Amino acid sequence: MVERKRILITGAAGFLGSHLCDRFIKEGYSVVAMDNLITGQLKNIEHLFKLENFEFYHHDVSKFIHVPGELDYILHFASPASPIDYLKIPIQTLKVGSLGIHNCLGLAKAKNARVLIASTSEVYGDPTVHPQTEDYWGNVNPVGPRGVYDEAKRFQEAMTMAYHNFHGVETRIVRIFNTYGPKMRLNDGRVLPAFIGQALRGEDLTIFGDGSQTRSFCYVDDLVEGIYRLLHSDYAYPVNIGNPDEISIGDFAEEIIKLTGTNQKVIYKDLPVDDPKQRQPDITKAREILNWGPTIDRAEGLKRTYAYFKSLTEEELNDTNHYNFDKYIIR
Ligand code: UDP
Repeated sequence: MVERKRILITGAAGFLGSHLCDRFIKEGYSVVAMDNLITGQLKNIEHLFKLENFEFYHHDVSKFIHVPGELDYILHFASPASPIDYLKIPIQTLKVGSLGIHNCLGLAKAKNARVLIASTSEVYGDPTVHPQTEDYWGNVNPVGPRGVYDEAKRFQEAMTMAYHNFHGVETRIVRIFNTYGPKMRLNDGRVLPAFIGQALRGEDLTIFGDGSQTRSFCYVDDLVEGIYRLLHSDYAYPVNIGNPDEISIGDFAEEIIKLTGTNQKVIYKDLPVDDPKQRQPDITKAREILNWGPTIDRAEGLKRTYAYFKSLTEEELNDTNHYNFDKYIIR
């Protein structure tokens, strides 16, 4: 029998983590899933619990990580990742990006494992360069509301490069742009679940600002493919993964109204502080190094995502309790 490769995925019960668990199980890996379940949801991975090549640890990676046995790979995806999440739990956001990555890198060094870390387009802040290439250093406000996320992710990249350069740990860094798909938390505050949830509940869609700000949305399966290729490449510097198909939030609201066929109106609310005005990945590097590009357009991706949200129960649809705080909060 061929020995299975063993991979630790932190943030495994979250949106991206759970899709990564599915992919690596499908590829025949032995998956060690870890999550503290503050923003993750066990229902995203519970179908995997019966498998002999799947284990789950309920653990906060900001604390020392102990995993018995060998590890070949570590994917560090634990972190609150929506503006509402990191406004509500700023300290945890900073800790998981700093203490958490330190623990992951220490574990990688001890196990001689390769680490891939989830970084973000937020390292570019409110960008003054468009589209954003990996060699742009960013325009981040360290003391603004997004600072806790942006600076944690920037620190995380610096720490990862230090372990690579100083300790020779094999590292990979993916800068993830806005991604969507099934298993997003309906109430995480991000624009797509917000709009679809509002449409399904018969509420007006809330556009922040005048809706002229842009984002570029990537379907989750495309992102996972890019991450899979990056992990198996030999490139240690940051790589943007995202779909360059840019759209204004106002036009996006119209697309969601059409998709859901709900005739909702849009209403305008204040733009959050430091909300980036435009965002679009330059993916030249991913194309060249990984031979990767997006394959699922927004029409198809939105159709699949809407099917997921429509399948939620009435109770889930109306659940405004954003976090598993009471059960799991760790201060
Ligand atoms: N947004 C909006 N209405 C909402 C939620 C978000 O207009 O109900 C806007 C938000 O201000 C931002 C964009 O949609 O300009 C994307 O927001 P999201 O939180 O999804 O991600 P990020 O700002 O981190 O890209």
